[in-house]
Amino acid sequence: MRVSQLVKTAGTTAFSFEILPPLKGNSIDKVFRDIDRLREFNPRYINITTHSSECVYRDMGGGVYRCGRLRRRPGTVAVAAAVQSKYGIPVVPHILCSGFTKEETEYVLIDLQFLGIYDLLLLRGDKVRHEPAFMPEEGGNAHATDLIAQVNDFNRGIFVDGSPIKQPGTPFSYGVACYPEKHEESPNIESDIYWLKQKVAAGAEYAVTQLFYDNARYFDFVRRVRAEGIDIPIIPGIKPVSKLSQLSVVPRTFKVDIPPALSSELVRCKTDADAARVGVEWCVAQCRELMKAGVPSIHFYSYSAIDSVYDVARQIY
Ligand code: FAD
Repeated sequence: MRVSQLVKTAGTTAFSFEILPPLKGNSIDKVFRDIDRLREFNPRYINITTHSSECVYRDMGGGVYRCGRLRRRPGTVAVAAAVQSKYGIPVVPHILCSGFTKEETEYVLIDLQFLGIYDLLLLRGDKVRHEPAFMPEEGGNAHATDLIAQVNDFNRGIFVDGSPIKQPGTPFSYGVACYPEKHEESPNIESDIYWLKQKVAAGAEYAVTQLFYDNARYFDFVRRVRAEGIDIPIIPGIKPVSKLSQLSVVPRTFKVDIPPALSSELVRCKTDADAARVGVEWCVAQCRELMKAGVPSIHFYSYSAIDSVYDVARQIY
């Protein structure tokens, strides 16, 4: 069953979470330990993030610096395959425009199809740090809409060079990202919703939100997208605050607000443990309200927050 069906047929609010491939040079054991910890809550699917290469400047001597490309977390396809085969839980690898040519993306699609992995989350990826604006690879996709077009062509049996696929395999299904507090580059929420609508028209079956801490922003966003005729599941993406530093890091990184009621609690915390306790309390209340409103699923961002996600899930599932 595909993700869009899994969330619709779960009966209760489905549970899912994302994991990151290990940093280059590390083993997959930590990924398995994290999944083992959250397995008791019956995850309907697990997302595996993808990380673009970064530009790391190397000192070549004589005042010359050269940008070398480095992927700190390769291995999305392999981790997805390992998780699906070990646990039998559907996996959703993230596919990015950022850092990949169309040919490289095609090779990833071929590998995933061979592995029997047919659910994808299609994303542009963030701009490279230190660059003022997002720059696609030469010969790469510039927006998630372009990536969708490539996957649609692949599903229809057409390679990126226009040649036919001899024996087209099982087609992919996919979801996309959305932003209740607007994507940082979008001039306004209307424009963001316009592009979301294009993605749905092209075939996106559900959307997962950027993390948020104020449910009113999510409810307002859903109201707006429904008014535009978008009827796919809008899955709330949730991350409990688990460290004091996140008070400033989260707004800076994800361009979302921390509501005053939460920030005033957090500024009173003396330790990360205090902040994690406040974060879990807030998140439980947030999830209970979302569940009461009938959201089909809650997707947890678990990076550096596995223990907090566990504590939240124990109270709500
Ligand atoms: P797009 O849909 O391309 O949108 C980017 C901006 O362009 C928006 O302002 C949009 O309104 C506008 N726009 C959209 N389409 C067009 C178009 N055709 N023409 C002109 N403007 C357009 N990042 C990672 O690097 N790895 C991950 O694994 C990852 N996982 C994520 C998971 C979720 C659930 C979410 C919400 C985000 C994730 N991200 C990840 C971050 C994401 O890649 C960034 O937020 C990125 O900046 C935008 O991605 P997008 O797919 O929304 O881009």
